[in-house]
This record gives sequence, C-alpha cells and structure tokens, in this order.
Amino acid sequence: MDLLYPAEAEEFRVEIRAWLEANLPAGWFDEGFEMTDTERSAFNVEWPQKLFEGGWICATWPTEYGGKGLTTMQGVVLAEEFAKARAPMRGDFFGDTLVGPTLLQWGTEEQKQEFLPGILKGQTRWCQGFSEPNSGSDLASLKTTAVLDGDEWVINGQKVWTTQGHHADYCFLLTRTDPDAPKHAGISYILVPMRQPGIEVRGIVQPDGTAEFCEVFFTNAKAPKDNVVGGVNNGWKVTNTTLGFERGQSATTGWRRFAEEYKAMLVAARERGVIDDPAIRQRLMQFYAKIQILRINGLRNLTSTVNNSKDMGSVILGATNKMFWSEMHQRAMELALDIHGADALLIDAGPESWAATAARERRRPGYPTSPMMSAFFFSRSETIWGGTSQIQRNIVGERVLGLPKEPKPG
Ligand SMILES: Cc1cc2nc3c(=O)[nH]c(=O)nc-3n(C[C@H](O)[C@H](O)[C@H](O)COP(=O)(O)OP(=O)(O)OC[C@H]3O[C@@H](n4cnc5c(N)ncnc54)[C@H](O)[C@@H]3O)c2cc1C
Repeated sequence: MDLLYPAEAEEFRVEIRAWLEANLPAGWFDEGFEMTDTERSAFNVEWPQKLFEGGWICATWPTEYGGKGLTTMQGVVLAEEFAKARAPMRGDFFGDTLVGPTLLQWGTEEQKQEFLPGILKGQTRWCQGFSEPNSGSDLASLKTTAVLDGDEWVINGQKVWTTQGHHADYCFLLTRTDPDAPKHAGISYILVPMRQPGIEVRGIVQPDGTAEFCEVFFTNAKAPKDNVVGGVNNGWKVTNTTLGFERGQSATTGWRRFAEEYKAMLVAARERGVIDDPAIRQRLMQFYAKIQILRINGLRNLTSTVNNSKDMGSVILGATNKMFWSEMHQRAMELALDIHGADALLIDAGPESWAATAARERRRPGYPTSPMMSAFFFSRSETIWGGTSQIQRNIVGERVLGLPKEPKPG
C-alpha cells in the first residue's frame, strides 16, 4: 500500500480546497457552524448550480460528455476534499453515481446526449426501480412487464422501496420484456419518465417521520421505444453494472462520517460521565479501530486500483467493504444509544456535534426524533439496501472464495 499521494494530486488538493473556501457559505469551516432549516433549504437549491459551474459534478466523466476528464487519483482527491469539508458533492445521487455511469458504459450516443446534460447540471432527478414486493435479493424474479406498442413501451406492475420516487423526473426501471425467456434473460433496463398519468407514487413513512422511499404503481405507463439501455432483454448485464457502482462507492472517504460520529460519542460519553465505564470504553475503541481498518482498506483499494492490480486481496476488500461498514455502523449506533440511555429518546438528545452528521439532513424538521435517533433508525437499513449482508456473504463465498454454490430451493 502506498500512503503517499503523487505531487500533482497534492497540488490538485490545494485547488479544490481553495474553491470550497471561496464557494461554501461564510462560516462553514468554523467550529459549531450551523444553518437554520431555511438557510439549509436555500443552500440545497443553490449548491448544485455552484457545483455545475465549478465542473465538479461527475468530474471524472470524459470531456466529450461534459465531465472534466479527471484521472482516478484526481477523482479520489476531489471526493476526499469534499468529504473533509463536509460539502455535498452530488447534484443527484442516483443520476451522478448510478444511471449516469451506466449510460456512459451502455447507452447509445442519442441516450447520452439526451440524459447526461441534465445529470451534469443537477437538474434531472432519478430513482431506481429495481425491487418489487416479491423480488428483492432475488431481483431476477421481477414481474413488472413492458410490452412494445408501436413506438412506446407499455408498462404494468409495482416497484417498492423506491428512494426519492416522489421527487424523481425519471426512473431507471427493470422490467420483464420476454416472459418466456429464462428469468435472467428476459429483462430490460428502461428509462421511464415519472410524471405521467400511468404512474402513482406513494411514500412509505418511517419511524423518524421521513418518507424518502416509496411504492410506485405502473398502470399502462409509457416510455419511448428507444429508452432501453444496452439492448432489449439485456437488462441483467446492465443492472450488474449499476449495482457494482452502488456497492463500490466512497472507498477512501466513507470512513469520515463515522469518524464524526465517533467524536460526537466521545463528547457525549464525557458529558454523561460514562467515559470511565470499561464496557463503554471497550466498545468506543472497537468502533475507533474499525474506522481505522476502513480507512486503511480504502487506501489499499486505491493503491490496487491505481496500479491496475487484480490481486486476491483487493478483490476480497471490494466484496467485503459494504458488509463491513454497515455492520460496524449498526453496532456503533447501538453504542450511541447506550451512552445516552433513556435520554436518547429526547428530541434534543446528544451534543450539538450530532447536528453536523448526515443524520441532521435525514430527519424531518419539526418531527419528534433527535438527529441521533434518526441515524440509529437509518443504520438498521444499511445492511439491507444495495444488497443485504447475507447476499454479500454469498457473493464472497461463491465468487471470491470459490465455495460450492448455494443449493437452489427445492
Ligand atoms: C433504505 C433503503 C433504500 C432502498 N432503496 C431502493 C431503491 O431506491 N430502489 C430499489 O429498487 N430498491 C431499494 N431498496 C430495496 C433493497 O434493494 C431491498 O430491500 C434488498 O435488495 C433486499 O430485498 P428484500 O427487502 O425484498 O428482502 P429479501 O430479499 O426478501 O430478503 C429477506 C431476508 O432474507 C435474506 N436472504 C434472501 N435471499 C437470501 C439468500 N439467497 N441467501 C441468504 N439470505 C438470503 C436477506 O439477506 C434478508 O435478510 C432499498 C432498501 C432500503 C432498506
């Protein structure tokens, strides 16, 4: 593993930091900086425009498609500086990190010209229409159908857990286009406009009052014939590209939000007089040690990516990363609750520094759940979305360790 970044990468780091200092709201880097809910709403609207003007949305994309053509190393440094500054780097998560890169790999020239500019400007919002009520881990068993009628696909069925479905302009949807083909073969990946009479979106309300994911019902919904990505009945291969992006994100930056939470827990443990409790100390140290493992493994991954090495170690790291951090974070959130005891239920539970974590944005303003409790609730979902821990273990067992395949249900 190489712990030193090349000199050009360090120069680029200085450039990014200077841009962030010039463009983030005044006081952003000060200890205890906070925005009101109104200020944050305004920031959320203005920031994608600034990112676009700076060229930082999808900056690793090739220049002919509007990116800056950054190298892998520059892309990593960019992500690190944004994470260090706690500045959002995305216009729209699903557009920037999932469907955009999938289109770069599989899309026709016309599809790239039509959809990539809206992603780069942070103007088009996307959602991922994969899971169905009876098709989650076994995604290829999905039943939503698309039938070609002249120049349009006519779509019927239901999706579920569709994050941001109520805000999305477009859905990248998996549908069955050949009911007679073997289940992995008859699927197509279609880009479907969300704002049309044939689509009904219902939010699913969660314990912290947010309804960020939805049920989506398709009743003779329409999509243009040419919106199939990667060819009709080839959707399974295209989907695996998207899922790879979903599981492989943020190798060298992901640890930072956990480090923030660790700091908040230390403050709370001191304030509440439990810092000397041996069991709490041990769990705090376990969390700290795992954050360091995550950080170092991220650097190992970066080194092998830059060196284009496909050694077993890097393959295993890639495959285990998501289950490692999601399981670590669940234990950590249980620890946060134990540090606070019954006070964890109070709306202002936790020191101010909790407000700096992602949990603040996630929670519904005015709803009686503290940011910390909201972070706890969300951590329960982290071993599920993007492939459950059990499925990740199957992948490691079968594809990395070469163990016998899981028996098919009788
Ligand atoms: C916060 C969140 C956001 C999400 N956002 C989206 C989204 O935007 N779009 C979208 O399409 N989906 C989304 N999902 C859905 C997510 O992809 C599915 O929940 C996930 O794939 C699991 O599917 P399932 O819920 O149907 O559970 P199931 O597949 O029914 O699994 C139930 C349990 O059985 C276990 N299991 C299943 N099969 C096996 C096996 N072969 N071996 C061992 N154990 C197994 C699972 O690990 C799990 O513990 C989201 C989920 C969450 C929690």
